[in-house]
Amino acid sequence: MVQTGMPPQKDANDDADPSQRTSDLLAEAGHASQESEFFNPIPPGYQKGRHKYVVVLGTVMSGLGKGIFSSSLAKLFKDKGMNVAPIKMEGYLNIDSGTLNPYRHGEVFVLDDGLETDMDLGTYERMLDQNLTRQNYTTSGQVNKRVLDKERHGGYLGRDVQMIPHVTGEVKYQLRELAVKQDADVVFVEVGGTVGDHENAFYIEAVRQLAFEEGEGAVCFVALTYVIEPPALGEQKSKAAQLGLKKLMEAGVQPHIIAARAKNPVESSAAQKIAMFSNVPLHRVFSMHDRESIYTIPDAMRQAGLDREVLTMLDLHGRVDQGKEDRARENWQSFVGKLTGGRKFNARIGITGKYASLRDAYASIDKAIEHCGAHLSCDIETVWLDTTRFEPKDAAEKLKGIDAVIVPGGFGHRGTESKIACVKHCRETGLPYLGICLGFQMAVVEYARNVVQLPEAASTEFDKLSDAPVIDILPEQKKIEGLGGNMRLGGKDVLIQPHTLASLLYQPDADKPFTIRERFRHRYEVDPKYIEVLEKTGLVFSGRHPKQPIMQVLELPGHPYFIGAQFHPELTGRPLRPQPMFMGLVAAAIRHHHPDAEHAEIGQRWLAQVKPTTTVR
Ligand code: GLN
Repeated sequence: MVQTGMPPQKDANDDADPSQRTSDLLAEAGHASQESEFFNPIPPGYQKGRHKYVVVLGTVMSGLGKGIFSSSLAKLFKDKGMNVAPIKMEGYLNIDSGTLNPYRHGEVFVLDDGLETDMDLGTYERMLDQNLTRQNYTTSGQVNKRVLDKERHGGYLGRDVQMIPHVTGEVKYQLRELAVKQDADVVFVEVGGTVGDHENAFYIEAVRQLAFEEGEGAVCFVALTYVIEPPALGEQKSKAAQLGLKKLMEAGVQPHIIAARAKNPVESSAAQKIAMFSNVPLHRVFSMHDRESIYTIPDAMRQAGLDREVLTMLDLHGRVDQGKEDRARENWQSFVGKLTGGRKFNARIGITGKYASLRDAYASIDKAIEHCGAHLSCDIETVWLDTTRFEPKDAAEKLKGIDAVIVPGGFGHRGTESKIACVKHCRETGLPYLGICLGFQMAVVEYARNVVQLPEAASTEFDKLSDAPVIDILPEQKKIEGLGGNMRLGGKDVLIQPHTLASLLYQPDADKPFTIRERFRHRYEVDPKYIEVLEKTGLVFSGRHPKQPIMQVLELPGHPYFIGAQFHPELTGRPLRPQPMFMGLVAAAIRHHHPDAEHAEIGQRWLAQVKPTTTVR
């Protein structure tokens, strides 16, 4: 960040000509100078008027689905052919989500560039079918850290560093920088938390200033609010919504659009009161009541004309590519039709996990399954199996009536013996299996113990003294990747061998090795010492690091469907591009549930590789 009138400072990722930067700043000189109280540092290359902003704020309470709203609206703009850049601004002081407990905060979603964020970024990636980066996510901790680092490096030249203008200036800088770097027509800003919280007050102040500086028609404020419907009264009450909106206006933000969340469609009397008390015309108060699937929201918004209102407000009608929008809408509607229509098949998928009581902890897995269920016309019931609550010997009993098993990622030793018992049951009885990260490692341990006959086999994450540490931390391999002893994080290439289950799933026609890109978050891996003996006894490592002996996909030839990934396939599943390993699993689960169904009926593409259920080994 640069303060006008000071020599420009070089950012690590700032490759622009500094003189250019100064001239950009001087162009804004009316607004920003050393002498004035304005402080609006502008990133190099920023063109005022080129980038527009939609700011989504929450009132009344948290959990209204600001991320879902913002991503759905952003999707409509992307479908119109515009570049969209979402950003989630979190109020908490953590630098990232890496250390958050998924039980409290939902899953940790890993971006391709390795940033550990929260599950909302997953919603954005899926809705937009777009990879996000660390620029699309910030926290109070990050913002304050940047300000303090700058202060230590003399970046504020003798000034006292204040919440306003310096911290708010940093927020504005970040928003504008995002706009430039991702060449955004529209930046969708989701302000975390609820209006009135201490944690997000500086964000609200920053976006207020942004709107002031960018001028009319550049920033559209959307307030999400909640209309309550107390069962005892049986009617909708808008008072809480009114008070929440008032709080927003007290902060100096006049909303342009109100999205009223509610259980049922918002009645006109409630909408009128909301309009009246918040100075928002009635036609810009939208009912955003509960829906059966979040994927129906973009269409609902379009039907209500919400996107058109925003287009008008931001003067963006001229940037709409009509042909593109029509095609995108058709594709999306065909997916939503499958999602909401009747299903031909049924299947029950068991998921083992320590956080089994909390669906949010496995949000991406849940979504990956939902996409596949729609594409393969299968009504999938997920059964959560808390392996900390049953003994290994009871695994077979617990898996009765289940058509496929997922052992998802995890940390710590609790429940691992029962997970291993579930893997064993799958391997021995031909029950379809997908092991993810920890589930991949557990499959290796199970195989080593029961097929290779290394009864001591273990992961050193749970058993430091094991005689057969088939899964271990391998610092020398981490060094090769320049990661020190840390977690291996983010998108990496995986080399897939042709004529394997993995290659049939990802690229059915391949007859040469090819690479895929998937996301990782792990410390432990297969010790290369054991690769040979594992493979000699029948396990196949069909996906590896392109250069190092790091095993990334395993499979079991002869089994109807047994595959494991050291990465997290669920993080790359998208509604219109469902994740191949999950598609294979769901196809196999359908085959298991409906042994007599015709192959072609389930979808030849996905079933070609599923062998009939037979007992193996
Ligand atoms: N705990 C294992 C590791 O660190 C697996 C991690 C995971 O499942 N995400 O390697």
